[in-house]
Amino acid sequence: MGWRFAEVDSDRRAACENAAMNALPRRLGHLGSRRTLRVAAMLLLGLAVLAVAASAQQAAEAETATEERFPIVEPLGDGVWAALQPAARRFSDSNSVVVDLGGELLLVDTQADGEATDRLLDWIDATLDLPVRWLVNTHWHVDHVAGNERVVARHPGVTIVAHDTLEQDVPGRAADLLAEDADRLAAAIEDARAKLGRGEGLDGSALDAAGRERLAAQIAAAEERERALRETSLTAPSLLYTERLTLPAGDGAAPRVELLHFAAHTDGDTILWLPGPGILITGDVVDALPYGGHGHPRQWLATLDRLAELAPRVLAPGHGPVYREQIAEAGQDAQPEESEPGAGEQLERLRRLFADILAAVDEELSAGGSLESLRAGLLERPEMKALRALLSVDEAGERAFDDFVPATAERAWEEATAPEAESHAQGDPDADGR
Ligand SMILES: [Zn+2]
Repeated sequence: MGWRFAEVDSDRRAACENAAMNALPRRLGHLGSRRTLRVAAMLLLGLAVLAVAASAQQAAEAETATEERFPIVEPLGDGVWAALQPAARRFSDSNSVVVDLGGELLLVDTQADGEATDRLLDWIDATLDLPVRWLVNTHWHVDHVAGNERVVARHPGVTIVAHDTLEQDVPGRAADLLAEDADRLAAAIEDARAKLGRGEGLDGSALDAAGRERLAAQIAAAEERERALRETSLTAPSLLYTERLTLPAGDGAAPRVELLHFAAHTDGDTILWLPGPGILITGDVVDALPYGGHGHPRQWLATLDRLAELAPRVLAPGHGPVYREQIAEAGQDAQPEESEPGAGEQLERLRRLFADILAAVDEELSAGGSLESLRAGLLERPEMKALRALLSVDEAGERAFDDFVPATAERAWEEATAPEAESHAQGDPDADGR
């Protein structure tokens, strides 16, 4: 079975497109810098399994596995909903949260895939039928801001709120990242076209008719994805704050929403705290497995301690499932086996991850070692193997761990060895670890 787009519905087509986009650059790893590829991997990891689904049987199974699509809506409390990515896409696009402020809505984050943002807005229209008054971007990463334009188009009264560092990072660095993605994809497409012209697959082996048809379809899908990347126009936040901000509620019954600034996953992380129901909306400061290559690992550790002090009852991450504190009932364990960890437990797991990464970095530094030797030994350390088993629920999670943890360690190394450059980097978007 080739991926003939006329025969598949739009969901499956989207999966094919993503698989094609993923397959091309991943197999052409010499294109672009290691860092750039890593960032691309951050966005695309969740679908890597599709890219290597070589046989028709595997491809069919993979398509079936991704039929569930964004938004998977999960109530978090009265008038608060998480809009979650399906598990297969949890590392490739972001979650959102919707809060009813009493006749008007607060939306947290938009998606990299514009069609996904449209489906979330469709759900809001069909289910809540209220205007989006506030849109908060938790940070500048493309998979949290690219859909801003679509929200503004459908809710012209919306105010986009973010930390003031996003003034230079959106479009700024976010646009640079989008352009890099598109350029890398264009180069991969050109290379794939040349191979197809010679009757070769991406790995250089000879293609039969079905293989040629499949590669041609992958190229067409990648071209469509490149077009979408180049057409994405990034809408900047219009209300910026520095330390904290409380959003005005529409009526007395609505939850109070506090925006708190941290510099952990990026310089401009916004965490939303609803003290009434005890709901914490973390962006990528707390994920199933967070990417640390753009952040501040040491401040991140302190941030996790601050968040634990809030003792959230419900934690909605930027990527991954919702973490809830379970209420123990008589004769039952507080945390049933097989379920997601509680909010406090997930914070503690990530605390352990960052503490162990920083310990490995400090050990290497005090032994006079190098970044290369740190990278070579990091994932072999017993505590890292234990964390990999604890935090990776599937193959995509293992790949994310193997990619994100060394990136976080490298970032911690950079911060420890170049403190002057780092303090300079706070105000210089070109010098901070990209
Ligand atoms: Zn992020």
